Order: sequence, then C-alpha cells, then structure tokens
Amino acid sequence: MKIIFLGTGSAVPSRDRDNTSLLFLQGENSLLADCPGSAYLKLMRAGLEPALLKSIFITHTHPDHLYGLPALIHSLCPAGKFPEVYVPEGIAEMTRALLGLFGLERKIEITECAGELPFLNTNLFKTRHNAESAGMVITEGQKKIVYTSDTGPLEDSSGIFRQADCLIHDCSAPERFKENFLGLDETHTSAETLGKMAQSAEVRMLVPVHFSGEFDFTTDEIEKSIRKNYSGKLFIPRDFDTLEI
Ligand SMILES: [Zn+2]
Ligand SMILES: [Zn+2]
Repeated sequence: MKIIFLGTGSAVPSRDRDNTSLLFLQGENSLLADCPGSAYLKLMRAGLEPALLKSIFITHTHPDHLYGLPALIHSLCPAGKFPEVYVPEGIAEMTRALLGLFGLERKIEITECAGELPFLNTNLFKTRHNAESAGMVITEGQKKIVYTSDTGPLEDSSGIFRQADCLIHDCSAPERFKENFLGLDETHTSAETLGKMAQSAEVRMLVPVHFSGEFDFTTDEIEKSIRKNYSGKLFIPRDFDTLEI
C-alpha cells in the first residue's frame, strides 16, 4: 500500500504545509482521507487521475477536513465520475447540506459508517476531539496501519495502536505551547505525549501529522520532542511525501 501525504498541517496551514489529508492507494483502489482545499489539484500532483478516485472518507466536520469537498465534486462534473463518500455516523446530513449549498448533493452517494468501511479492510474507532470524529485502522495482509485524524491522547485499552506497523497520529505542537494552545493534550496531541504513547504501544513506525501553523516550531523540535520518549522508527512527512507499507 502507498500512502501519499497531500497535506500535513493543522487548521492553520503554514507556508509549506496545507491542511492534513492522506491518499491511500492499493492497486486500483484509492481512498482520500479528508478533503480540504484544492483536492483535485493535489490528486493530480500525487499522480492519480482525479476521476479515478474511488472513495473519500471524511473523519469529522471541522472545516480543515471537509471544506474542499464541494470544489472537488464540482471539478469532477465534466468527467461525470464521482467517488463514494463515507462519513462517521451523524454527519451525513451536514455533509449533504454543504454540497446542497452548491446544488451538488445529488451527484454523490454519502454513506454513514460505524465500525467499518466497505473497502481497504478498514475499521473505524472513535477519537477524542471537540467534534464527533473517527480514526481508521487499515489491515493490509499482516500489516496494521492506523490514522487517527484529530485527537487528544487516547487510552489505548482496546489495543488499536499496539505494535502498529504505521501509526499516523495527530501531533499538533510541542508540549511547551500548552499554555497558549488550548486543547493541546486534550483534543489534540503534543509531540512529547505522542512519543510516550507510541513507545508504550510498541509502535513500529510513528508518523506525526497535523502540525499547527499557528505556533513557531521546526520539524527538528518535533523530532527531539518525540525522541524524548520514543525509540522506534520515526517518519516526519512533508506535503507530497510518499510511504510504501
Ligand atoms: Zn484538523
Ligand atoms: Zn478537528
């Protein structure tokens, strides 16, 4: 499976990082996880013909994860081919309403899912966020790939992260911004806390994303902050980096 990071920033993008969204590719199958701006352009840059995109999963209804959907569907109108759109339970109505503002709601099928998605062997789990939000566990052969989307630190009692081959996790800022960053280590996760969690869950490869453009820190600082607690493999992606699992 190939994972392309179409964006790695938070709701506040930086010069080099747009809002977080990921493209999962497995043979003919493709899944876009979250849909911020310029998705059509980003799919092309990632090497996928946008009309061939099979599915979209929206993790939650915060604008940085959803606002690009009407524009993507609109851009796909000439091709007349649209992806299936999946959302967690309770947010189909808002997603439909957003598309409805542009008269696009009839173009696509929006399906609410609980527990699992009907493709890529994906199970969903609830995260800890200030909106109803779902993370994904993709099982690919023997490999376990987890993407949390936005979340505070989770009690991993159900073992979702345990020995994950790849854990792509909210890492909004280093801990030192806690005072100014309301919600850090509550509805979002700091680099230090993420390192601790990944170490205790024996995560094989940790991939931090959703870096806040609002606060001044470097990738180096993220790395050092995670490394205080985590000794496994660490991959800090830039926008358009690709991972093969
Ligand atoms: Zn977000
Ligand atoms: Zn959010």
